Amino acid sequence: MSRKNAKCTRCGVIMVAASMVATGCANRGVNKRSFMCPECAKTNERYGARNNKEVGGVENGLRYGIEFESTASTEYFRNMMFRYDYIATHDGSLNSTGERRYTVGRNGWYTESSCEYVSATNKGLKRFAKQFLEIEKCHNEGHVEWDDSCGTHCHISINNMENGEMSMIRAYYNSLFMPLQAVMTANPVKTEEFFGRYFSYSFAREITENTRMREEDHDDRYAWINAVHNSNIEFRLNKFRTADQMLTCIKFETWVVKTILNNFTSKYNSIPRTERKQLAVKTANKLAKKLESIYAEM
Ligand SMILES: [Zn+2]
Repeated sequence: MSRKNAKCTRCGVIMVAASMVATGCANRGVNKRSFMCPECAKTNERYGARNNKEVGGVENGLRYGIEFESTASTEYFRNMMFRYDYIATHDGSLNSTGERRYTVGRNGWYTESSCEYVSATNKGLKRFAKQFLEIEKCHNEGHVEWDDSCGTHCHISINNMENGEMSMIRAYYNSLFMPLQAVMTANPVKTEEFFGRYFSYSFAREITENTRMREEDHDDRYAWINAVHNSNIEFRLNKFRTADQMLTCIKFETWVVKTILNNFTSKYNSIPRTERKQLAVKTANKLAKKLESIYAEM
């Protein structure tokens, strides 16, 4: 047996290749084989673990974080996600006991249930196109599975919203997002097709006049648009169906964030307090109109 060494795609440790978990895919040839150390192949990080890596260029000035929930995935998929700088964490919402469970997947690979893959902070959108295509292929080949409880949450920010943008958004949260939601609820079939799933109380809640995005109100963070974090807006309705659908959805959400930054938060401090509500409503109508025009072409 050869004593060739290999490097772990996740932690970078160099070990004898024969002692590592090698993944390859019959459909993609042996040249695509790569290796995980036994620890990274089997151990998920704790629920809520942060991925501190930053990747990508300045491109559009925005920063993206994706949480990709799955009910089962193969070693091949896991290694592929590591190559794209994701980390693997326990998914608290899917496996309340937090215990590691191993099952055998549809095509015989060794899998760990209910894993949430957390992306690096991606500067710009560029890097997503290729990895989404890989995810789509893997899903078609049975390397990854998800159900209705699994979302593909997307966090978007500009410079971690360090100029107080999130407190401005929270102050006018209902005015900013109720009109957009009205378009979504008026077109449930298109909403499900566009975002990947429809509102549900447990995973991506409809907002009401009473949704306040108070940090002390833990439940508000389950709203389909979550503004509880100080560093980003989280879109929770997203669910991966195809690479094209996911990218289109995130591009729309990029537009939503940019429109709020350009039309609302950037003007917030320079206008009288009494005019802020009106500005929020004007911005909200822009968001709603845009989604209406997208739905009209579907
Ligand atoms: Zn490792």
